[in-house]
Amino acid sequence: MEISGGTRVVGLFGDPVAHSLSPRMQNAAIKASAIDAAYVPFHVTRANLAGAVDGIRRLDLLGANLTIPHKQAALALVDELDQEARLIGSINTIVNRNHRLCGCNTDMQGLLAALRNELKVDLTGLRVLLLGAGGAARAAAAAAAREGADWVGIANRSFDKAVSLADDMAVFQQGTRFAPLILDGDLAGRLPVQVDLLINATSVGLQGELHAFRLRDCLHRQGSVFDMVYGLEPTPLVREARAAGLDAADGLSMLAAQGEAGFQLWFERPAPPGVMRRALQGAFA
Ligand code: NAP
Repeated sequence: MEISGGTRVVGLFGDPVAHSLSPRMQNAAIKASAIDAAYVPFHVTRANLAGAVDGIRRLDLLGANLTIPHKQAALALVDELDQEARLIGSINTIVNRNHRLCGCNTDMQGLLAALRNELKVDLTGLRVLLLGAGGAARAAAAAAAREGADWVGIANRSFDKAVSLADDMAVFQQGTRFAPLILDGDLAGRLPVQVDLLINATSVGLQGELHAFRLRDCLHRQGSVFDMVYGLEPTPLVREARAAGLDAADGLSMLAAQGEAGFQLWFERPAPPGVMRRALQGAFA
């Protein structure tokens, strides 16, 4: 990568930040597009977040990505929010538009693209079992509501958070029914129907572990499984789903698709197809 007098910078703010694969995939796409820019990780602590966000204006960065633990705290530091960020209640992308900072959330778009590309699934009219009630689950629940899913069971280890997420989704008023559930070994027995799609938005699987319930009992025969976890190829959940004859995909495609959405926001052109995904696969090879 050549740095010139006109090189523009996009930052990644996080604590920790060194483990992130985003610099690898974003710089691969920048290079493939022959753009004079660089995507640079910055170790930003909670105490320094406000100063770092203001630094986007002062240093005229193109923008930034936000990762742990800044996605919610940064909401209050930008000048405006896009619709997805307001719905999800967190931002993962900041775009600098003439020193006005727009906070965006590309997770919803990333998930929808991954479901479409990897599983040929469109959420409209589907019955969905969503595992988790954290930030990623919130993006998935909002996507399901916006796309008009029929029913969404939100299963979480801490039941109160499942209740709270289901309540928050009432703002959509588009007919999607949300049901909070406890995530434990008896989950399948509590479902009113066998679902079309299961989405794992918990961190279960990151260390090679499996959920305690029987996956096969939750879905009908043509059902699909999307695991937001990525890294282990295939993840334990994807392996279990495929062994049960179900179509399944892991979170790598979502990571690439949310990155492509950020690239489009900063550079106002589409990311070169497949480049981010290949960069991620290369990182795990
Ligand atoms: P988060 O806000 O910290 O939420 C974590 C969720 O996992 C909570 O619902 C938590 O339940 C649950 N959980 C954690 N350990 C558990 C266990 N042992 N058993 C059952 N549930 C457990 O995190 P997040 O940002 O939503 O991310 C969740 C996962 O999605 C992470 O693995 C992350 O890497 C992945 N992700 C992937 C992408 C992608 O692009 N592929 C994007 C975003 C996130 P409690 O509420 O009970 O603690």
